Amino acid sequence: MALITESQLRTMLKEGIPSPYPINKGDRLTPAATDFLKERGIKLDLLSTMSMASSHLPGDASGKLTVPVGVSNRHIHLSPEDMERLFGTGYVLTPFRDLSQPGQFAAKEKVTLLGPDGLIKDVRILGPTRKATQVEISKTDGFHLGIHPPIRLSGLIEATPGVTLIGPKGCAVLNEGVIVAKSHVHMGPDDAKHFKVTNGDSLMVKTAGDRSVIFANVSVRVSPAYILDLHIDRDEANAANLITGDKVSVIGKNGKLLSWNGR
Ligand SMILES: [Zn+2]
Repeated sequence: MALITESQLRTMLKEGIPSPYPINKGDRLTPAATDFLKERGIKLDLLSTMSMASSHLPGDASGKLTVPVGVSNRHIHLSPEDMERLFGTGYVLTPFRDLSQPGQFAAKEKVTLLGPDGLIKDVRILGPTRKATQVEISKTDGFHLGIHPPIRLSGLIEATPGVTLIGPKGCAVLNEGVIVAKSHVHMGPDDAKHFKVTNGDSLMVKTAGDRSVIFANVSVRVSPAYILDLHIDRDEANAANLITGDKVSVIGKNGKLLSWNGR
């Protein structure tokens, strides 16, 4: 099993990238690598690209509890009303890439975020549409825009700052809805049993490598619709030197360490 990154593909550009691009079962691509191939019209073996998350049981050979990492770049969930404001009446989002959670997709569409101090172009829309528009940015993005949203779980947008979205057909001026997403782990009921947690618990996870970091308060979100995946934002990923497809070890839950070896 290999992780294919955008920079690996970029170095192959000179000699030419085979199309379709052959990958072995179990190989995984970072979202940037997937986009890289897609933008060049290079197809993959469908079996390997259906899900970014692995379907193996959590835990490695030594019996440690592990969780795969999914890094979320800044993105927007749109309400149907705001989608029409930005893209025109009757518009339908174009799926671009499946996300790790079933039914969720990155759309082809991108818009510009405009805040009091600056703008960020090409922010991707995730589909399908939701009841309320929600913009998820990093703390660093917040400094760039001049907006300082609180750290929240998805869906909890009360008393959050707004931002202006600029699309090809119009603007949407939001009064609220900008958050910095709180780190969370998605899991199905079987994984929840395996980890001995329920929805709303928190996990403590430790990353490996030269910049090993402990995320001490990762919210657990359990649903039959979920696949095991730790979601962190770009700032958190950079701070811990993580990329999508890396694994972290579970070392505690609800503020207490399990033990030093992850048991
Ligand atoms: Zn998530």
